[in-house]
Order: sequence, then structure tokens, then C-alpha cells
Amino acid sequence: MGFDETMSQTTRTERRQVTLEEAIPFLDLVSAHRAIEEELVEALRGALREAAFVGGPEVVKFEQEFGAYCGVPYCVGVSSGTDALRFAYIAAGLRPGDEVITVPNTFIATTEAVTQAGGTIRFVDVEDGTLNMDSSRLDAVISPRTVGIVPVHLYGQPANMEAITRIAAQRGLWVIEDAAQAHGASYRGRRAGALGWMGCFSFYPGKNLGACGEAGAVVTSDEACVKRIRELREHGQEAKYFHVTEGYNGRLDALQAAFLRIKLRRLEKWNAQRRQVAAWYRAAFQNVPDVRMTSEEPGAVSSWHLFVVRVTHRDSLREYLQARGVATGLHYPLPLHLQKAYSAAGYKRGDLPVAERAATELLSLPMYPGLTESAIDRVASAIRGFYG
Ligand SMILES: *Cc1c(COP(=O)(O)O)cnc(C)c1O
Repeated sequence: MGFDETMSQTTRTERRQVTLEEAIPFLDLVSAHRAIEEELVEALRGALREAAFVGGPEVVKFEQEFGAYCGVPYCVGVSSGTDALRFAYIAAGLRPGDEVITVPNTFIATTEAVTQAGGTIRFVDVEDGTLNMDSSRLDAVISPRTVGIVPVHLYGQPANMEAITRIAAQRGLWVIEDAAQAHGASYRGRRAGALGWMGCFSFYPGKNLGACGEAGAVVTSDEACVKRIRELREHGQEAKYFHVTEGYNGRLDALQAAFLRIKLRRLEKWNAQRRQVAAWYRAAFQNVPDVRMTSEEPGAVSSWHLFVVRVTHRDSLREYLQARGVATGLHYPLPLHLQKAYSAAGYKRGDLPVAERAATELLSLPMYPGLTESAIDRVASAIRGFYG
């Protein structure tokens, strides 16, 4: 969600000048950091004094702590969520011609990493209620060349992993989770990221657990994958200057690891605040027929990365809210199968109708820890005002 977020931050700055008390930003990273500024600065001082910038004890400690948080034995820190996905796909042994199935309503990192790892993307449509992967359509998309499935826990809500992992097991396919929006979400008592073979996280600043820069991680119980991903992030080296393959410069910064350790201690609290915000929104829109909310997957607890509604007259509502100081986002305005980047794949409008229709209706409302009930009331009454 990088692009939209930058836009909303710009919007926020502009708004600040116009109507100080009234503007409700889409995301408020400034306040989030103000509360822990001293600790972050202390971590920076520590890094400077040790001159430890790449690798080292902070990275190892963060990997242990985040792995434990997810309930898996291993975590490998890497330089972004995109690298987490790319390295997981390579570690899964993708070969040219191998097909990987995922959803079209995700950020392009999910799919570009497949192509970059040598595979081919096939899209499956989503469920109308949750907007997550529709497992009942998988059989029709699985081909003899399919090797794996990548569910995306969109907006922080875990996909129907029971059905997806069952079908994958029956067909001999692997499952790699794109958990970039789902830090701390759970499904039937287990954490997102720990539900498949490997789970990929992004710590982009706007995520539920965000660095002060770029960062990512892969979590897994598979020791062989851990070894391979550790090689890949460090130029394919098994020991210093001994390279088993070519690899990448894809390491996690020590400073980002130190920042992430500080923030990880607050993640549960922040996620609880997001859950409260979601509950306020849900109550406020209960009797507004023009606003449809996503339905909850049984057994899933969302991390509420985003609060997305589906509305009529979306674009005019968005402008109306903008004019009243309420910043919104679109996640995502154009499904991947209709992007120019994928024109060669041969998809056309109408192929994935649920995702296509949702893209014209969805609207992401302000969502971040610390958003107040009165702010939610203002957003909700502005929306009711638009329809009333
Ligand atoms: C943010 C995000 C990514 C990419 O993570 P980066 O850290 O920006 O590389 C991948 N998938 C999804 C669903 C995301 O939201």
C-alpha cells in the first residue's frame, strides 16, 4: 500500500494547514512515533556506538522474537516484504513454466516476485463476502503445471486456510502466505504466517508492525528453507565469500531490527486499538444500506490493517469526504489481471468478476491505533450525510 499511503500523508500535511482540528488522516505515523521517540533514538545511539548496521545481535534477537510471536521456530529477516516473497518462492524451488495461483486484488509484490523467481501467475477470483481467495474456484484454476498457492490475508483478515491447505494437500501443492498485512492476525488459534509452508511479512512503515524504513521477514518451521533464504539474502553465500549460487543483497538492517524490536512489544496493544476502531465503524454502519462491510471468516481474527467498506457512488463519496477533511484510500483500484504489466497473460475484463466489481466499490477509511471514537463518529456521520 506504499503509494496510496504516501499520497495520504501528503494530504494530511495539506489538511493540517487548512483545518487543524478537523482533518482525519488516513494513517497517523507521526503520532505513533512521537510516543516512542526516545526509545527509537536510544536504539540509534546504540547502533552508532557499536557501528553495527547490517546483521549482528539486533537482527538475531528480532528474528527470535518475531518467530516466537508467530509461533514458529524460525524467522529470517530480509530487506522488504517483496524480498521475503521472492526468497520464499525461490526457496520453494520454482522452475520456469511452474504456475502459482493467487488473487488479483493484492499489491503487485505478491505476483511480481513469482515472475522474478521464474514462475508464472494464474489468478483465482475472491469471495464476495471476505474479498479473500475463493477456495471453491481453485479446482478450476489448478493445472498440471501448478506448483503452489499464495493466499493473501487481505486487509489483515486471514483467508479460508482450512479449505486452501486441504485442497493444496490433496493436489500436492505448497502454500506460501502473503501475510504482509496480517501481523498478529490469527486463524483457529494460530498466527497468520504460521499456517502454510512459509509466511511472508513486510515491515513497510505503514504496516501494523512497521520499520522506520524498508524491512521484511519469512517465518517457517522448515529448516532447509531457512538455510536457503539466509543464503539468498546474502549473495548466495554459505560461508563468507563461498557462494553456492548467485543471490541478492537482501539483508535486514540492524537499525531496522532494533526499531522493530521496540515496536513489536506494542503490537498487541496497537492491534487491540485497531480492533476497537473496527468495532466502532461496524456499529456505526449497521443500519446504513449503502455501506457494505466485509464479512468475517469463521475462526479468523483480523489484524485490521485496513478498514474497507463497499459503497455505491464511491468516487463522489471519496471527494465528499476529502472536502470534509476525511482522507481515504483505495486498495486496490485496478485488479492485477487488468494491469498493463500483465497484458501478455491474456486476461480480460469479466474473467474475475467478483474482484473486478469490488475494485469499483471499495473504499478504505481512516484506520490506525489511537483513532478516537469521536473521529469515527465524524467519519460515519459524514458518510451518512452523503447518502441521506
Ligand atoms: C506491503 C505489501 C507487500 C510488499 O511489501 P514491501 O515491504 O513493500 O516490499 C506485499 N504484499 C502485500 C499484500 C502488501 O500489502
